[in-house]
Amino acid sequence: MTNSKETIFDKILAGTIPCHRVYEDAEVLAFLDVNPISFGHTLVIPKQRAAFLHELSEESAAAIGRVLPRICRAVMQATGAKAYNVLQNNGASAHQAVFHVHFHVIPRLADSGLGIDWTPTVLAPEIAAELVEKIRASLAER
Ligand code: 5GP
Repeated sequence: MTNSKETIFDKILAGTIPCHRVYEDAEVLAFLDVNPISFGHTLVIPKQRAAFLHELSEESAAAIGRVLPRICRAVMQATGAKAYNVLQNNGASAHQAVFHVHFHVIPRLADSGLGIDWTPTVLAPEIAAELVEKIRASLAER
């Protein structure tokens, strides 16, 4: 367990505040978002208390990875959506409001879904080379 503070999702996990639960196993809980941005907006969370994805244990990450496609399929089937986004925010400046790791499953419907402000640039080869070296070095440390 990481050292993050208690959040509203701990209360949901403990059952002290209610949720519309769609899935639960020993390591994962999934429930409907209380303020959905589209019909079927669902949250998938680890039971491990961790604020950010990079703090999650491999076990919790694997548990989420195992069930996420199944939950996406079920949400698609239940809502009739043919497309969806999986969103996972880390840090207040990256739009994270609840500091307990969560994956949003957001159906894309005709009139609702995730709005994405995405401005592509061009990756310069010299910047890429330096960056790859740094990331590989960091990965080799752990
Ligand atoms: P974030 O911006 O942190 O990625 O998203 C947090 C999400 O949690 C929001 O979509 C918000 O509506 C949802 N949320 C916050 N509090 C509750 C709650 O008490 N119950 C449920 N079901 N969802 C919540």
